[in-house]
Amino acid sequence: VGDDKYDRSWEDRWIRDAGYSKFIPEAVSGLLKKCNLSPKDIAKVCYPCLYARDHANMGRKLGFDPAQIQDHMLTAVGYTGTPNALMMLAAALEDAKPGDRILAASYGNGSDAIFFQVTDEIERAKNKRGIKEYLSSKKPLSNYEKYLHFRDMIPVEESPRTELSPTWISTQWREHKWIVGFVGSRCKRCGTPQYPGQRVCVKPDCGAIDEMEDYRFSDKKGRLFTYTGDNLGTCPDLPGVYGMVDFEGGGRALLDVTDCNLDELKVDMPVEMSFRRKYYDKQRGVYSYWWKAVPLKQ
Ligand SMILES: [Zn+2]
Repeated sequence: VGDDKYDRSWEDRWIRDAGYSKFIPEAVSGLLKKCNLSPKDIAKVCYPCLYARDHANMGRKLGFDPAQIQDHMLTAVGYTGTPNALMMLAAALEDAKPGDRILAASYGNGSDAIFFQVTDEIERAKNKRGIKEYLSSKKPLSNYEKYLHFRDMIPVEESPRTELSPTWISTQWREHKWIVGFVGSRCKRCGTPQYPGQRVCVKPDCGAIDEMEDYRFSDKKGRLFTYTGDNLGTCPDLPGVYGMVDFEGGGRALLDVTDCNLDELKVDMPVEMSFRRKYYDKQRGVYSYWWKAVPLKQ
């Protein structure tokens, strides 16, 4: 709730005995009955649980084999609360084939259970960025103090070099297309893209004025033209890494580089864009987001 620093929950008996171990089996077996199905008709069942052993026990009691039970993600991600069941469903769909029957149940104020049958359309959804790809690109944090700082549990001296200025909310609203949408401009005369959008073409021998169209950069890959690591700036995860990115198809922008170690970076390394939190303005309670460059594995 609000700025609570710690998760709060009541005692385990309330969560377990009077909670998930009662609601989830009731929802799952109730839905199976309603659909005239038995556990063996189901390819994958997805339901969250706070404890790995209870998760397995619950599935067994319901009559599912371990192979039918979708991984709980407790070891790879942890308990994510409300999204947990949906993340498990997304992960189940990544391995699903047409005809598979999938059952997904949530846990919160009670339990909702939904039954799905996979169609041929699943093939079109494959090879999109999903749970697997995000898990394979995760970066473990080796420094626990950094984690405490990320969670605002220990005070850290802010760098005097780059104190945050107040969030200009009106500017964020006015320029939301180029901030949130990562939309720049492309010259209609010579085709040169540029970010942020320009009125005057940046190509020296073109000179077109006000002949621009919107051009989206968020879906373009790029290459690192230059980069640096800054140990003195304001960044929760020092060193702050940023660099110039040249986009495929043209255009260049100065961006934070994230999900990487400084010593892994190389000039000309391919990167892709990712929408991330830029900072949190504590005084005004404003979270600010922008696009960052993420190095692609080669
Ligand atoms: Zn031009």
